[in-house]
Amino acid sequence: MKSEFVFDSDIYPGLTVAIIYPESERYDILEQQFEQSGHAFLLHDHNMMVVDGGAVGQSWFTEDHLKVIQAHEAAHYMAGHGKDVHLKGRDEKIEREADWLGYNLLMQKGHASAAELHSEEYESRYGAQPEEHDNLMTHLKKHLNESTLRKFIRSVMRENFMSHSFEPLVGDAVVNTNPGCKHYGSEGIVINIDDLSDDQGKVISYHVTNNGDTFTNGDVLRKTMDQLGPR
Ligand SMILES: [Zn+2]
Repeated sequence: MKSEFVFDSDIYPGLTVAIIYPESERYDILEQQFEQSGHAFLLHDHNMMVVDGGAVGQSWFTEDHLKVIQAHEAAHYMAGHGKDVHLKGRDEKIEREADWLGYNLLMQKGHASAAELHSEEYESRYGAQPEEHDNLMTHLKKHLNESTLRKFIRSVMRENFMSHSFEPLVGDAVVNTNPGCKHYGSEGIVINIDDLSDDQGKVISYHVTNNGDTFTNGDVLRKTMDQLGPR
């Protein structure tokens, strides 16, 4: 049996997953860390999460458990939760954010059974479904400008937009793609979506985040959906 297993995360490409099994000569060094950290910890500067192979080898441990661990660590990474999360124990508030985001990450990526497992763990930890805590997103949004979270959400959204017809949600990043519109090129975050009467489509209000000749960071613009694309 291999004593270490290193691979690119299938939940969050760009992050490396290193599973270190008890057979590894390095396990002795890590064992204490795992006792303090739980089943995994993140080495932010190395874009790597280290997972306890002792847990992975247990009979109860499934592929979904590994996905949940990856999602949780990736969530810490995206949210910019300090440098090396779990290395110095756990902060309940930060953990809840990572669990909430991890769950949403699995949902967005279409890992339904892993998301279900994450949701169950969430409920047993916090006594509520992740959906009941969607207000956590408000706090996370403060990091959106700086962190990789924004980039991630953007890329997921872009995939979604391309596979479906473009239909943004509140919180999505959009860009005005209509060259005939005087606000062409304006970028922003969707803050409201109105249904027009008689199935005439939808009007999107977005909070502008860049500057141009006819718009300024902070403006709110309203456009029909056909004039906007994912950013
Ligand atoms: Zn954590």
